[in-house]
Amino acid sequence: MTSAPNANAAIETDVVIVGAGPSGLFGVFELGLLDIKAHVVDSLPQVGGQCAELYPDKPIYDIPALPVCGAQELVDRLMQQIAHFKPEFHLGQTVTTLQQEPNGRFRLETSAGTRFDTATVILAAGLGAFQPRRLRALGAENWEQRHIHYRVLDPEQYAGQRLIILGGGDSALDWTLALHGKAERITLLHRRAEYRAQPASVARMKALVDGETLEEFQGHVRSVFEIDGGFGGLETVDPEGVHHKVEADHVFVFWGLAPNLGPIADWGLDIDKRQLRVDTEKFQTSVPGIFAIGDINTYPGKKKLILSGFHEGALAAFGVQQHLHPEQKVRLQYTTTSPLMHKRLGVSD
Ligand code: FAD
Repeated sequence: MTSAPNANAAIETDVVIVGAGPSGLFGVFELGLLDIKAHVVDSLPQVGGQCAELYPDKPIYDIPALPVCGAQELVDRLMQQIAHFKPEFHLGQTVTTLQQEPNGRFRLETSAGTRFDTATVILAAGLGAFQPRRLRALGAENWEQRHIHYRVLDPEQYAGQRLIILGGGDSALDWTLALHGKAERITLLHRRAEYRAQPASVARMKALVDGETLEEFQGHVRSVFEIDGGFGGLETVDPEGVHHKVEADHVFVFWGLAPNLGPIADWGLDIDKRQLRVDTEKFQTSVPGIFAIGDINTYPGKKKLILSGFHEGALAAFGVQQHLHPEQKVRLQYTTTSPLMHKRLGVSD
């Protein structure tokens, strides 16, 4: 379902949805009922937005007609509901550019080089694109990409190297265990004694520490130090306030992801306190053809709830339809009784 980026050709489409959270996913459904196929882009490698990234195992109690529904379960159900409309997902890529062309259409580009030439855009971008929490220690900025990393692209590259891994969640522990034995030395640095990772991974890590083949360190990063003008390692502070210098060739930061409005703020749309101003008729932004639904938008009385995003997605879909075919009058049709809806839903011939 995820398509590979193509550096040459722009994908021509009627609508691109930016954000695969609950609002974006239900937007696909409402567009599908109007016979409009959607491309969906998300910076995360999986769909589901905050529900999947921040609280997948938590129960939600305010989804209409579902007295209780797990957050990941809600995402799974939405995916099931939209499967028939075959949306195309472009995951793990952030939309970095949105520009209107002289012909009125929009050009979108992602961090992976995927380009779209689209008639309309629905921004369902929540609180912004989820990006890794960065190491803000003194001097760290100068070494990002080269010696400070937020993901492991090629584990073999770190064979025989001295590594520091920051974090206490699953990513930190999984990579510590995966790189152990390959790297010359690994120091795992976490701010607390308790870990959030799976207990089995924590137990395996502790066994390696007991066997003295892994260093575990509790504390905070203070700064990056250099040796002969090159990257030297991290200066850390332990809970007693004692400073340590941990030499290393590479540092991996696994502090989880945080949403960042990022490029959306630069697209010339009317913004109020980091949210896009929309009308409440079709949830259109200050630029005709660009709609905003879910947590990303604001209007009098806005409530950041999943059900608000669902309602806004339905009306934005009608807005998209009107933008695409201003001459057509679209009649509301019930999914229960309309043969056309049944056909589009694939429940009749
Ligand atoms: P999101 O879920 O934030 O999804 C937006 C997506 O857009 C993200 O995946 C992001 O990566 C992507 N994105 C953003 N910018 C870009 C870009 N430039 N390029 C590519 N992708 C981009 N609501 C309820 O109704 N009931 C509850 O009980 C409830 N409980 C909650 C509990 C917690 C702990 C939290 C944090 C929230 C809770 N919420 C609840 C709020 C609810 O999760 C949000 O209202 C909902 O997720 C908003 O959906 P959305 O699709 O608008 O945005």
